[in-house]
Amino acid sequence: MASIQLQSLAHRYPSAPDYALNSMQQSWSDGGAYALLGPSGCGKTTLLNIISGLLRPSEGRVLFDDIDVTDLTTQQRNIAQVFQFPVVYDTMTVADNLAFPLRNRGIAKNEIEKRVADALQMLDLQERANDRAHSLTADDKQKISLGRGLVRTDVQAILFDEPLTVIDPHLKWQLRTELKKIHQRFQHTMIYVTHDQTEALTFADQVIVMYEGAVVQIGTPQQLFETPEHTFVGKFIGSPGMNVLPCEIDGSEAVFAGKRFSLNTAIDNPAARFELGIRPENIKLSPSEGMPLTVTALEDVGRHVIVRGEIAGAQLSALVKDGVAIPENPRVSFDSAHINLYADDYRVASGRGDQAI
Ligand code: ADP
Ligand code: MG
Repeated sequence: MASIQLQSLAHRYPSAPDYALNSMQQSWSDGGAYALLGPSGCGKTTLLNIISGLLRPSEGRVLFDDIDVTDLTTQQRNIAQVFQFPVVYDTMTVADNLAFPLRNRGIAKNEIEKRVADALQMLDLQERANDRAHSLTADDKQKISLGRGLVRTDVQAILFDEPLTVIDPHLKWQLRTELKKIHQRFQHTMIYVTHDQTEALTFADQVIVMYEGAVVQIGTPQQLFETPEHTFVGKFIGSPGMNVLPCEIDGSEAVFAGKRFSLNTAIDNPAARFELGIRPENIKLSPSEGMPLTVTALEDVGRHVIVRGEIAGAQLSALVKDGVAIPENPRVSFDSAHINLYADDYRVASGRGDQAI
């Protein structure tokens, strides 16, 4: 296994006017379980293919354990990669498909048998071991692709590019849990690309959030939730996402709709566009206390009700536990302790009393 460093890495496809990846400097640990999370088109596949060696970056270097691998092929880098759609040999049996990457590397026969048996069991494909792959469903074919990525124990890293896209939702859970267990057992460096926050948050110890060709934050699920470093992270993580409310600054206070919120530091950047971030979970509704909210919709999402409305010209969502009464003309309040302050989309302060700082 290897640590991965990206040095001044950037990429522009020859046919495109803009950079798909802006210059980045990253260092990811050996044995880490990382998720690369971001919306479609933000550069996840581009970055993964540069790490695996399928794509040569137009600028910068890729290092594994401090060794420059930028000029090496995927095979020389010794990487396993699982793609969005199945890559299997239709005419081979399921077991042979799994054995193939091992035979290719000259592994002993009894060791191959053992690892293939392990993989079959892990993927619940024992019954199909001797069937030819072409007779399998898309789900099962993708399981083979996953298995082919996981049978090799000597790899520097295993990269997954939205591997559960074609998998049935029920099975997704099971496979994700399985991948997590495999990581705990073998401690491979794993990078798992997804646009689905639930997938990212359940799989990874560290989530790398990408937005428009840039890494905007790396953190634990809790850090992404409590202290989003960019308004995009706040809005993208959580359901619904963080409220982002335009505000003004007065020394070490943020002022929104005439209310003052104390910050943990004074702000001196008069030209910036300031916004206050507050999670729907941290908003209190009451019949008498706080700023009046014009309710526009109520959405029952099972254990919660999402109250959507407008306050001082801004959109706001609040999350209310099921069974808790929602006042008819609700007023809104929230605590300084739960806010983050953003200047031109980047976090510059938290509310006073925030223990995370
Ligand atoms: P993601 O995997 O996050 O959806 P991609 O890495 O596939 O994003 O794409 C990032 C950006 O690069 C997008 O704007 C996409 O249109 C562009 N892009 C991807 N592949 C190519 C290519 N082969 N040639 C030109 N542009 C590309
Ligand atoms: Mg992609």
